[in-house]
Amino acid sequence: MEANKRSLNFIEILIEEDLKSKAYAQESLRFRFPPEPNGYLHIGHASSICLNFGLGHKYNAPVNLRFDDTNPIKEEQEYVDAIKDDVKWLGFSWDKECYASDYFEQLYQWAEALIQKGLAYVDSQPSEAIAAQKGTPTEAGTDSPYRERSTDENLKLFREMKAGEHPEGSLVLRAKIDMNSSNMLMRDPIIYRIMHKPHHRTEDKWCIYPMYDWAHGQSDYIEQITHSLCTLEFVMHRELYDWFLDQLMKDGDLRPKQREFARRNFSHTVVSKRKLLQLVENKVVDGWDDPRMPTISGMRRRGYPPQAIQNFAETIGIAKRENLVDLSLLEFHVREELNRTANRVMAVLDPLKLVITNYPEGQEEWLEAENNPEDESAGYRKVPFSRELFIEQEDFKEEAPRKFFRLKLGGEVRLKNGYIIQATDCVKDVDGNVTEVHATYDPKSKSGSGTEESLRKVKGTLHWVSVAHAYQAQTKLYDRLFSHESPDTQKDKDFMSFVNPQSLQVVTAFCEPSLKEAKPGQTFQFQRLGYFTVDSKSTKEPIFNRTSQLRDTWAKLTED
Ligand code: ATP
Ligand code: MG
Repeated sequence: MEANKRSLNFIEILIEEDLKSKAYAQESLRFRFPPEPNGYLHIGHASSICLNFGLGHKYNAPVNLRFDDTNPIKEEQEYVDAIKDDVKWLGFSWDKECYASDYFEQLYQWAEALIQKGLAYVDSQPSEAIAAQKGTPTEAGTDSPYRERSTDENLKLFREMKAGEHPEGSLVLRAKIDMNSSNMLMRDPIIYRIMHKPHHRTEDKWCIYPMYDWAHGQSDYIEQITHSLCTLEFVMHRELYDWFLDQLMKDGDLRPKQREFARRNFSHTVVSKRKLLQLVENKVVDGWDDPRMPTISGMRRRGYPPQAIQNFAETIGIAKRENLVDLSLLEFHVREELNRTANRVMAVLDPLKLVITNYPEGQEEWLEAENNPEDESAGYRKVPFSRELFIEQEDFKEEAPRKFFRLKLGGEVRLKNGYIIQATDCVKDVDGNVTEVHATYDPKSKSGSGTEESLRKVKGTLHWVSVAHAYQAQTKLYDRLFSHESPDTQKDKDFMSFVNPQSLQVVTAFCEPSLKEAKPGQTFQFQRLGYFTVDSKSTKEPIFNRTSQLRDTWAKLTED
């Protein structure tokens, strides 16, 4: 899906207008994706990555990867590394790898410059007092008693803050703007706080750290980003973003522009790093990359192709209002991709023994099977056939309605890549459960043999695996992680109470022997069962994660 085949979204319209009015030259366009390294990227970030890098692609403009690393308490190198891997894996390459922490010195200098201009002051009040003086949206705030401190005193205190001479929480630096502004964020916002905490990159160099608003816009300015795109909760921050630039910008420099789009929410999951971290810490899942997680690394381990995620992001586009996007749309794109690329194989998850009574004991033959009907270049492989096979329990019924097109006593089906069989008999245990089915095969009906019988159409086709040749592998079947469509917006109920206890089922599959050689990351279509991907954490033997179920199968088995 090419971006230029659809109509322009509102951000693209804005850029087109900026180019037309010569606000920016085409060559000066530059975008950035600015994650905070305090967790792994999720499907919401994927949307933002596709937006920013998509614009880069469309306008042939560079895109920076900027780590917004201003909070040393929550940020770690592990997250930086994971974010880089995820962006690359999604299929994007950034121009510059940037860190807000690389600008700490410059940001500090600019803060001193604000003090010199009488536009910032050190406040000695505790945070509760500062909060209380903020006022409300309808009532003006109250000036801090320290608002009129002299420039010299402010400079001295700010330097002492930097030198580590004051404890955490004792002093903050605030921009001196307007305590009566109708925008609460303009009421002398805090721009620096003291934190005696080492940073994952600057280590012990700093004990004062800039606030988001102070760091973000100035980082955009330093990198000469033209369009700084963020989510809607920052609409009110835009005025502050512009105010800071007004104070610092040098004539002739490019002025970045903040614009907002709606944060994406997705059904049956949560996309907040804080909540995802809670799932990890409480061991509800097996780490950030658990295949049930909506993280990019989880989706990768689950077997989602990066192209499917890109196509999904392109389909949902961007919006001005928040709404809930159904995750089944992502699964649709996953199936679309895998249908083209995944080789077909046979495996049985819930086995029932089928004995072909007129097939000689001890005989075996290797039948030719097409790897992918959607891709001729995928070629053929051989699958072993013998007298005893496994089929799925649910594919046999002793007596069944007329429209049950699987196997029933007296009925015929084709065994995929093999023969037409007819069920003659079945064996039951004391409880009346069928434990074995007997059938006869028509030796002339072999698929691909060219005989009249081989071309004969029967209503049902079943997948199967030879008992003697079956390779047993562990499979993991996943369901939605949350049973509620919108788990984190329910009143009085924590999202954790909606965790689906049945989201993981571990099952032994009986597979055709070729699967023994499957490599981590490889995806297959287990015919009629779904797409399965070898877990990247499989050690000796492949473990198969069910990537997605199949909606459509090659055999119409029932008419329901
Ligand atoms: P979270 O709540 O998950 O921590 P965040 O916005 O704090 O999200 P950042 O690392 O700051 O996470 O986000 C980097 C970029 O990704 C930002 O530009 C942000 O707006 C965007 N982004 C994050 N979540 C979503 C989402 N659900 N939909 C669209 N964009 C998102
Ligand atoms: Mg954030």
